[in-house]
Amino acid sequence: MGGEPATGRAILAPWLIDGMGGPVRQNVWLHLDRGGIRSIDDHPPANMPASHLSRLANCTLLPGLVDAHVHLTMSGTGDPQIRQSQLTAGYSGAEPVIRAHIAAHRKFGVAAVRDGGDPGGHVLRYGNRGGGRGAAPVQCQSPGRAWRRAGRYGRLIGRPPAGGQGLDQAITMAGDGGGHVKIVNSGLNSLTVFAKETPPQFSLDDMQAAVAAARRLGMDVMVHANGELPVKMAVCAGCGSVEHGFFMGRENLDRMAENRVVWVPTAVTMSAYARRLPPGSTEATMARRNLDHQMEQMRLARDCGVAMAVGTDAGSLGVHHGRAVMEEMALFMAAGWTLPEVVQSATGIGSALIRGRGSGTISPGAPATFIAVAGEPGGLPGSLAQIVARWIDGEEEADGRTTNRRQ
Ligand SMILES: [Zn+2]
Repeated sequence: MGGEPATGRAILAPWLIDGMGGPVRQNVWLHLDRGGIRSIDDHPPANMPASHLSRLANCTLLPGLVDAHVHLTMSGTGDPQIRQSQLTAGYSGAEPVIRAHIAAHRKFGVAAVRDGGDPGGHVLRYGNRGGGRGAAPVQCQSPGRAWRRAGRYGRLIGRPPAGGQGLDQAITMAGDGGGHVKIVNSGLNSLTVFAKETPPQFSLDDMQAAVAAARRLGMDVMVHANGELPVKMAVCAGCGSVEHGFFMGRENLDRMAENRVVWVPTAVTMSAYARRLPPGSTEATMARRNLDHQMEQMRLARDCGVAMAVGTDAGSLGVHHGRAVMEEMALFMAAGWTLPEVVQSATGIGSALIRGRGSGTISPGAPATFIAVAGEPGGLPGSLAQIVARWIDGEEEADGRTTNRRQ
């Protein structure tokens, strides 16, 4: 063979899931060089010095996860006093809460989160102060405050355009440096009347102009929408993703597949309600029916070829940061997803909704940013509670310390 010694180093992965929907691979060598992945092969790179080869034992590698819908200023706790104080906190009160939630995400292998908005715009400020992108192990992208119509749902996450301003003008004028725009275009799901639809908050013209305004600023739009008409308007206006999408119906699924709009179903919110509400109560029964209906839509969406991202709405009642990603992935699987497919929804597809770090895949040319969970792939998603190592841009962190393990 001869030639120059190979640069970088290589690790043997007992199992690997690529984040692109490909089959689980076994005993493959990853060649890491200058922060990226150079090749993936069933043998080590030619001319790699033995001291630069390491063999990982009994673990599964997958890309760092993305939670495509969180609220970092809120905890999933049911304690009304804590929830109230988090809702009304100033930045100095919110910062340690955000920090703790980011640590919780990291613990479960999440590498990036997309926030759904908070009334103070604190998450955006946190990210812009260097606590997020680049500086931290978990990247957070925030829209700042969400947009809603005055008098309609969304007070807890955003604001209406100022008097006399159109939605598009408000987006253009705000110029607050968010990574994406969040618009609320329906109400919440009823826990007393099954499939009760709330009217859209904005007109189709408003929505189209808003999406165009966001695009001019280089931003994508995430739209909170439940029910047929609110979802239809979001999709027809050209939004990037539909959030929740309960009771959106088959036609919207076809429309989303055709227009490549990503769906973030946040099914775990309903399973959390079903668990927390008094057993046998109307509300608990309704939460369970809503969940069943949503999972049926998820099954249909998979058949229709809709791109779906794992997002949890963490910070909602009973939905805990970090852990909820594992729970939402389990719901995808219960709705018929294979493991490589749900990992793709929790990595590659979510990553495309976030600007910046990585591609959410383990592939040649991608940044070497991935995690290792204990044991065989069959332990997922539960084994996300047992992360054994993380790599960010080729640097391995073990137990919170950055190491440079080469043996
Ligand atoms: Zn939300």
